[in-house]
Amino acid sequence: MTILYAAEADEAAQWTDSLRVLDPSLDIRFWPDWGDPATVDFVIVGGRSPGDLSVFPKLKAIQSTWAGVNHLLRSQGLPQGVPIARMVDRGLTGSMTEFVVYQVLDEWRRGAELRKAQRDACWLETMPRLAKDCRVGILGLGTLGTDIARKLDGLDFSVRGWSRSMKEAGGGIRSFGGAENLPAFLGDLDILICLLPLTAETENILDAKLFGHLPDGAVLINVGRGAQLNEGDLLAALASGRIRRAILDVFREEPLPEPHPFWRHPQITLTPHVAAITRAGTGADDILENYRRAMAGRPLVNQVDVRKGY
Ligand code: NAP
Repeated sequence: MTILYAAEADEAAQWTDSLRVLDPSLDIRFWPDWGDPATVDFVIVGGRSPGDLSVFPKLKAIQSTWAGVNHLLRSQGLPQGVPIARMVDRGLTGSMTEFVVYQVLDEWRRGAELRKAQRDACWLETMPRLAKDCRVGILGLGTLGTDIARKLDGLDFSVRGWSRSMKEAGGGIRSFGGAENLPAFLGDLDILICLLPLTAETENILDAKLFGHLPDGAVLINVGRGAQLNEGDLLAALASGRIRRAILDVFREEPLPEPHPFWRHPQITLTPHVAAITRAGTGADDILENYRRAMAGRPLVNQVDVRKGY
């Protein structure tokens, strides 16, 4: 009964240490030193595409340490029919919510303007805006989007979410479901947050057509995936004023190459894919639970629907 750790080497120690604290008897090996491939039952993968997993004839499950599995589903040699679980971790969820709530509050309280005013020694007196007057829309009302929606709702923001299916998120959160309701969802937003998984349907979803449904001066926060954003369309929307400011944590190419126009764009704030990272201290329990489920032939927790892509 062997677990193969095929995620990034720099993450390995924290995960294997946490797993061994929970169960010292675990036999954990590291890519590419797996020994007899027929002994590998369970593979843990991270943010980069793993090697060819089809070489393990008795593989029972694949566990991602990341919430998004788009890179894994597109990887070469992914064995058919082996269940895949993604990471749902309270540390990751809390971290994402803190990041997004911080960005929304900073935007609504004019943080960037006030910091610029201080640099210019300008006494910029403005009327503070109240949260209740800010309409925030979240694309993707799943694990992460729902937690953010509830925290923003608790702060009195006017919150709505868009997902494939309708949701009951509680409080004053409004739910919009399906592509036909996307224009109504976008119509009068002050701040749009993208927290969709990357699939064939959501690739390039943040494009000129979608921006065309937003009011002038909207703010975009993309914490989903870089390939969901049409970069040229964003630059055009920033130039026209349709989008006033963009806060981007994810990019088509990571690290973002040095000559990229986003780096020094005055209307873009960028962070290097650090909104939320899974922590071994809170995520290892679920990995061990899934390992035990896989060994017992039971369904995994947080199993990915491969047909839907998330
Ligand atoms: P999740 O629980 O699976 O939620 C995904 C949501 O997106 C669901 O509400 C789903 O709708 C909706 N959705 C998917 N495809 C859709 C479509 N075509 N049209 C409308 N709605 C659609 O995922 P999560 O845990 O919240 O994570 C979301 C994503 O965040 C991840 O996939 C990852 O890409 C990103 N992420 C980024 C970071 C970072 O540091 N920047 C960290 C973690 C995760 P239904 O519920 O109706 O199916």
